[in-house]
Amino acid sequence: MNILVINAGSSSLKYQLIDMTDEHVLAKGLCERIGIGGRLKHSPLSGGKPIYEADITLPSHSEAIAVVIEKLMSAEYGVIRDASEIDAVGHRVVHGGEAFASSVLITDAVMAALSECVPLAPLHNPANITGIEACKAVMGGIPQVAVFDTAFHQTMSPAAYTYAIPYKYYEKYKVRRYGFHGTSHRYIAARTAAMLGRPLEELKLISCHMGNGSSLCAIDKGKSIDTSMGFTPIAGLLMGTRCGDIDVGIIEFLMNNEGLDIHETLRILNKESGVLGLSGVSSDFRDLAAAAKNGNKRAALALDTFHYAVIKRIGSYAVAMNGVDAITFTAGIGENSPETRAAICRNLGCLGLYLDAEKNNALSVEADISTDDSPSRIFVIPTNEELVIARDTLDIVSAQR
Ligand code: ADP
Repeated sequence: MNILVINAGSSSLKYQLIDMTDEHVLAKGLCERIGIGGRLKHSPLSGGKPIYEADITLPSHSEAIAVVIEKLMSAEYGVIRDASEIDAVGHRVVHGGEAFASSVLITDAVMAALSECVPLAPLHNPANITGIEACKAVMGGIPQVAVFDTAFHQTMSPAAYTYAIPYKYYEKYKVRRYGFHGTSHRYIAARTAAMLGRPLEELKLISCHMGNGSSLCAIDKGKSIDTSMGFTPIAGLLMGTRCGDIDVGIIEFLMNNEGLDIHETLRILNKESGVLGLSGVSSDFRDLAAAAKNGNKRAALALDTFHYAVIKRIGSYAVAMNGVDAITFTAGIGENSPETRAAICRNLGCLGLYLDAEKNNALSVEADISTDDSPSRIFVIPTNEELVIARDTLDIVSAQR
């Protein structure tokens, strides 16, 4: 069975076609500038076909999907002969609110529930809905499945997800912590258990997803019990350009003193803050490391502040779970920056986590980077959200048949 995995943004659409007989990726690609021009990069990964990359007009997501299907079937760049070789579509959907604690087959009722979640994720959910409708328009009645970023965290307790504001705002609007990156944290939990050779149900794990967006997740017996992102993805750790947790009093102070309105203030907190805002150099940790090495004090401060924020979270999650068997680093920074991992692990001996400097510096895809005698383990595991989406889609579609 071949599953098409779609991650639709407001003007972009990422895709992978995965052959589920052995879970290998047949092709992947990215449509960009949808509605404002158009660009497609399509990479066939089987059959030795060349990469296609060009500016092409993509007026809407439907046109983008149609072009993707055409490329997937084309003689020059294709990996399938006919659209009927795509058996189902799995969509990444950012927000499932409290309605979805797991992935679902998309029906009219599910579409209505997704629309109800739009106020919770006004930038992301409309794009995801557009992607689903575009697939329906181009591929007719093909089974489609929604996989939510928030679903994994629906196991958090009220004490972990409730904000101390008047309770009526939870009752009226469902203002609470939701958390994101759930698909990644779920994958990391399962892979970490597999690498430990122990059942997930007996483990206390901390997943550290550190990329452009970063979040930590405490996973007790396979269930998310806490995570650092909140009602929105701006919360928790400082990130590339997002501020993470700050004192809300700062918002009024900045608005009054800088003459800003709320939209401009939030734009600054989302797009001009984090390690970019602190350093004035870049949101990319490679640039920050290079600048810090050259004596740039603010770049060094940005890195120190990030490390400290992660260390504090790891400590609090270890206490929340009354122990930790393993922590796992993933995503762009977590997978590729031994310096960041080393800086974070410096103080974790008190939790029984000891980093092996040599293993940490050795390049490898999946690895245990703790010392041989470390009581608890430290891993690096590349995340694979697309594979989780494809697996959920396969499971749900197979159960329907
Ligand atoms: P996204 O959240 O957009 O999926 P990624 O998980 O791809 O992001 O992470 C992107 C980030 O990873 C970049 O901003 C960069 O800071 C970081 N990164 C990638 N490679 C390295 C590296 N070798 N060293 C340090 N940071 C890296």
